[in-house]
Amino acid sequence: MSGFDQLRLDGVTRRFGAADALVGLDLTIERGEFIALLGPSGCGKSTALNCLAGLLPLTAGAIWQDDQRIDTLPPEKRGFGMVFQNYALFPHLTVRDNIAFGLRMRHLPKDDVRRRTTEAIEMVQLIEHASKLPGQLSGGQQQRVAIARATVLEPTLVLMDEPLSNLDAKLRLEMRTEIRRLHQSLGLTTVYVTHDQEEALSMADRLVVMRQGKVQQIGTPEEVHTKPSTWHVADFMGYRNLLPLKASQMNGDQVTVDLGGTAIRGSAQGAVAPGDDVIAAVRPEDVKLSDQGVKGLVEVVEYQGRERAVEVVLDGGGQDDPVRLHVRTEQRVEAGEQVALTVTPGRLLVYPS
Ligand code: ATP
Repeated sequence: MSGFDQLRLDGVTRRFGAADALVGLDLTIERGEFIALLGPSGCGKSTALNCLAGLLPLTAGAIWQDDQRIDTLPPEKRGFGMVFQNYALFPHLTVRDNIAFGLRMRHLPKDDVRRRTTEAIEMVQLIEHASKLPGQLSGGQQQRVAIARATVLEPTLVLMDEPLSNLDAKLRLEMRTEIRRLHQSLGLTTVYVTHDQEEALSMADRLVVMRQGKVQQIGTPEEVHTKPSTWHVADFMGYRNLLPLKASQMNGDQVTVDLGGTAIRGSAQGAVAPGDDVIAAVRPEDVKLSDQGVKGLVEVVEYQGRERAVEVVLDGGGQDDPVRLHVRTEQRVEAGEQVALTVTPGRLLVYPS
C-alpha cells in the first residue's frame, strides 16, 4: 500500500461486553508525525493501537487513510509495522533472517532481500551481530532487531506498544534517542504507546493523553506540559500539588484562591467562578521557600541528589494535604522547621473541581 497524507480516526470506539475500553477517539495523524498515546494503565492505549493495527474490530467509528476507509481491512492489508514490548522475534532465526523474513514472504528477488536487510541491520547498528540468534543478544539489541524487522518493509505507519518497558533505565534513554533518530531519518509516521510521560514528552511531536477510554487532551509536548486541560492531565504530568481550595475573586482568567490564609493568584483553566470549589495545581519545582508567604511546618525532607523534596504542612488547618516542593541541595532545610512558601508567578493553574 502506498503512503498516505493523513490517517483519520473518527469516533473510534471499542467495548468489551459492557466495558468501554475506548470511546469516541477522534485523531488526525499527518504523514511523518510521531504521536504518543499516553495515560495510566487501563486507559485504552493498547486498545486504540490494536484498533489501528486491525487486531481488534471497532465497535463503532471509522478509520480513514486519505479517502479510503481501512477499518474493515485485515491487518496485513493495512501495510503497518508493529513493535511490541516483548520483541516477538523468531528464536530459531538469526538476526539477519528475522529481519529478512517479511521481505522473503513477499517473494522479492534475492538480491533485493539481501540489500535491504543489510541496510536495515546497518541502520540499527547490529552488523557484527547479524548471524547471532535472539537469545544471544541483550534486551536492547533484541528490541533493535524488532524495530529493523518492522521498518525494513517500509510501512506507511509504525505502531509501537511500550517497546522500551522491558529495558533498564540507561538503555531506555539510549533507545529513546535511537527511535527518534530512525523516525527522522526514515520519515516514518509513528504511533507510540507509553505510560511514561517523560518518554512521551521527549519523543513525540504530539501527545494524546487518555483516561478511562477517553481523550483528555491532544497537544504538543509543551502545550500538555505547561497547560494541562484538566487536573487529571496535570496530575499525570507531574503537578504533584493538587490542592482542593476555594476561588474568591476573578479578574479575567486570573483567579484568587486562599491558601493557608494567604491569597494567591492563579490562572483559571476552564469555567471557574468566585465561591467555587477548585483544584489548584502546581509543580514542586514552582514552589519556593521565601521570607514571606504561606506559612507552614516542614514535615518531610528527602535527599534526591541535586535536590531535596520537601513536604510542608500549612498552618491554620483547613488544608490537609502537605505542599510539596523541591529545593536545591545546598539550601538547608530540616523537618520541624517553620517556613514560608511562594509560588512562581503564572505557574498556579486553577481547575474546576
Ligand atoms: P496498559 O498500559 O495496562 O496496557 P492500556 O491503557 O493499554 O493499559 P487497554 O489494554 O487498552 O489499556 O485496556 C483498556 C480497558 O479495556 C481496560 O479496562 C481493560 O481491562 C479492558 N480490556 C482490554 N482488553 C480486553 C479484553 N480482551 N477483554 C475485556 N476487557 C479488556
